[in-house]
Amino acid sequence: MTGRISREFIDELLVRVDIVDLIDSRVPLKKTGSNYVARCPFHTEKSPSFSVNRSKQFFHCFGCGASGNSISFLMDFGHLSFVEAVEDLAAFAGVSVRMDSNGKELQKPAGQSLGNLYLLMEQVANYYVEELRKNAGAIDYLKSRQVKGEIARDFMLGYAPDKWGGVANQFDQKLLVEAGLVVVKDDGKVYDRFRNRIMYPIRDKRSRIVGFGGRVLDDSLPKYLNSPETSLFHKGKEVYGLYELLAKNPKPQRILIVEGYMDVIALAQYGINYSVAALGTATSQAHLDLLFRFTSEIVFCFDGDKAGREAAWKVMEAAFSSLKDGRSCRIMLLPEQHDPDSLIRNEGVDSFVDRVTSAQVLSDYFYEQIASGLNLNEMEARAQLIAKVKPYIEKLQESAFKEMMSARLKELSGVKKVAALENNQVTIGMATRKPNTQEINRLSSSRVAVALLLQKPELAYLLEKQEIDWTGIEFRGVELFKNIQRLILDKKIVNSAVLLEYYRDLPEEKAVKALAVLDVHVEEDQVDDVFFDALNGLLKQAREAGILRLQAKAQNEGLNSEEQDLLVAMLVGK
Ligand SMILES: [Zn+2]
Repeated sequence: MTGRISREFIDELLVRVDIVDLIDSRVPLKKTGSNYVARCPFHTEKSPSFSVNRSKQFFHCFGCGASGNSISFLMDFGHLSFVEAVEDLAAFAGVSVRMDSNGKELQKPAGQSLGNLYLLMEQVANYYVEELRKNAGAIDYLKSRQVKGEIARDFMLGYAPDKWGGVANQFDQKLLVEAGLVVVKDDGKVYDRFRNRIMYPIRDKRSRIVGFGGRVLDDSLPKYLNSPETSLFHKGKEVYGLYELLAKNPKPQRILIVEGYMDVIALAQYGINYSVAALGTATSQAHLDLLFRFTSEIVFCFDGDKAGREAAWKVMEAAFSSLKDGRSCRIMLLPEQHDPDSLIRNEGVDSFVDRVTSAQVLSDYFYEQIASGLNLNEMEARAQLIAKVKPYIEKLQESAFKEMMSARLKELSGVKKVAALENNQVTIGMATRKPNTQEINRLSSSRVAVALLLQKPELAYLLEKQEIDWTGIEFRGVELFKNIQRLILDKKIVNSAVLLEYYRDLPEEKAVKALAVLDVHVEEDQVDDVFFDALNGLLKQAREAGILRLQAKAQNEGLNSEEQDLLVAMLVGK
């Protein structure tokens, strides 16, 4: 979708849809007290700790900590991107997504034309399926590759006839151009991009066809042809076979990445329905992040030749940035002269599965490759090893995996302390320093104040009437507190869900979410009192601390005129 979704639209949508109805349609809820509960869809549990609150329009799991509003729920539950979740939520509400009105690209209703493109792709795929039925040569080819009818149906295989005007004469030409299914000649005439090829529709994880791959039936070139990049199709983001994989198994133990469509199909024939293929590009970090949403282990399958090993090395660099705790990658190199299809035919399924499950873990493969040719008995070689490995380790996110990789390097190099691999003791020391009692009190007052404001946005209106003088007030969270109040008043925010949406992907998001579900143990009719008590206590403490700080400064180094005014104002205000 081009352009940005309108902010006001998102606000309205979050008010219009009741999160209880939305979640109940996916995960049946039970009412208990003022909350609705269920067994958590995001972790395995026996008794329900997943709770949905209607007045906050928010869900929270006490077991795994998952929380958020309707959009977050759809993103997590359906593994959707933000935009996809908003689209689904709009569909649930029966309205169409509204885009920002500024910006030229929005002159055309983007959502609608994308809808037409998806529809066209579906119609074209059906056309190719029909053509396959009519073409004996294409059927013979698939038979020669031992493709069963069931697999052809699951993957919606088709055939593009050997004509210049196959789809070009059947469908809307403007849409065909946009979808990349035809090529425009110099004289303005359009002709079919795919001719005399077996057609493989490429579906996104929501089953929509975003592109096609086509393979020749003989040895002519190019052997494989893909749709070009279009507004639907982004090669760096999509993989072939993911939708079909998830349809059979939504939570696969592992996903195998192979080279081409035929590999995916050949493996599916043998019941290995957990493989996908990158689309003529190297596996990217975006690919890996997509796949890791569904599984915790990815196995890369490469040819055993030089090109395969080079590809393996390349993919490892992408994998390094995606790896964090709980995720693992393995590298599986095929024997030379084999592809997955020929190997599984040759060796049988069991032996192939053995190769998959016993594939070398990424760290082993990495060290084996990087240390090959180095004689680690020599000091120079050990220094070289450190120099080669360090940049890779530095790229890793802080995790057990990173520690393990560092430990391995120390072991191999015999060097105990490798600079830049050590944790930064200073920051860690500070973060774990225990706050004193006074700090805990102040912290909890400010937590209570911010939490209540988040949970009961209407408090902002009461607060506005108080005309608080914020001069010189400093405490943990004061900026956040003022920011939340401003947002509520400016945007007329009525519930926590809408408020939280403004913090999505901001550094404060985590803190805000935690406070939105913090149980402050207040009876409904005492919320106002508790809130103002907390706030008044906080303001008093902050003023006193401010006065002490300025007085100390006055004694030690003196105050500038601004600070003098501030001190006077605070003393008077006190
Ligand atoms: Zn949970």
